[in-house]
Formats: sequence, structure tokens, C-alpha cells
Amino acid sequence: MEEDNLKNLIKRLSKLPGLGPRSAQRAALFLIKNKEKDMLPLSKALYDVAHYYKPCVQCNNLTESDKCSICDDPRRHQNRLCVVEDISDLWAIERSGVFQGKYFVLGGNLNIMDGRGPSELGIDKLVKYVSLMCDTHTSNEIILATSATVEGQTTAHYIAERLQEFSIIISRLAHGVPVGGELNYLDDGTLALAMKARTPVG
Ligand SMILES: [Zn+2]
Repeated sequence: MEEDNLKNLIKRLSKLPGLGPRSAQRAALFLIKNKEKDMLPLSKALYDVAHYYKPCVQCNNLTESDKCSICDDPRRHQNRLCVVEDISDLWAIERSGVFQGKYFVLGGNLNIMDGRGPSELGIDKLVKYVSLMCDTHTSNEIILATSATVEGQTTAHYIAERLQEFSIIISRLAHGVPVGGELNYLDDGTLALAMKARTPVG
């Protein structure tokens, strides 16, 4: 029985991103050897997040309340909304500190082959959000920060079409030029995309 539990733990650990069966075995043994210091706190952390975290009613970010701390923050720009594919993208933009507005997390990109259509991404919820924004604020801007893949571009294009009825500015991230990166070190495709996606300055 005990062996089955351990096998089950290793099997589950091996499904985590970046872990294969061998790293899962190492992780399991590490946890068993450090039961008090690491394994029990990890077990509690997993339980807490599984039970108390849920999607924000407004933006789909993770939160323990109905609304996340970003949606609830009155100091953030109420008329700027950044649409991202995943929560990891939201975290990346937050880490950079360049954006002080609100977010909407799609939870993926449009990919009909994988069964992700407009309803799976909650595009209707986004349209309602934008509609409410336009009723309450002026000079609204939506930044479509989906990835530079074909699916990401398709998603941005689709959302831009759905938001055409509103008088808002819709912009797209200029992809590919790293901060401090020199243009001549970029490959042509990346540079072309960054150039096409250029946004007005000032
Ligand atoms: Zn939120």
C-alpha cells in the first residue's frame, strides 16, 4: 500500500512541467527526507491554493476573493485594459512594471483544432467588460498582448473585430525587440514583426 502511494506521488510529480520520471523520483525522495521542513508545508500550500484560489469575476486572474487585487486597486488606470493569454503573461508584465492598467486573462488563444473557440476564451465576458468601461470612463485603450504565434495573432485579430463597435483605441504589443537589445542582432522575421507592430509614440 505504502509503495502504491509513493508510486502515485512520483507519477503525479512527473506530470508537472519540466519534470520527467527521474526528476520526479528525486523530488519525491527529497520530500520524504525533508518531511517536516518541506513536504508537509508543500502539502498544505497545495491544499490551500486548490481550495481558496479561484478566477477573479472581472478579469480571470487568480484570487482568494471575488475580485483580484489588481481589479480592486483604485490607483491603477481604469481606462486601460491589457488582454493576455495566460496568468503567466500577466505576471511577466507586472514584473516589468511597465503597465499600470487592468487586465483580462483569456486562458489561452483561439485554436479550433484544440477545441478553443470564442466561448472557451470568454470573449463575450471581455466584450461586456469593455462595454462597461466605455460607459464609465473616457479615452479607453485596449492593448492586445497575445503572443506572436499564428494563434496569438488570430486571437488578437478576432478580438479587435469584436470590439469594433466601441470608440476605443486598440493597440498591439510590438513583439521581439528586447529592452536594450540591438536591432542588428535580431533575426529578420522578429525584426519585421516588431516593425509592423510598431505603435505611435508620445
Ligand atoms: Zn481581476
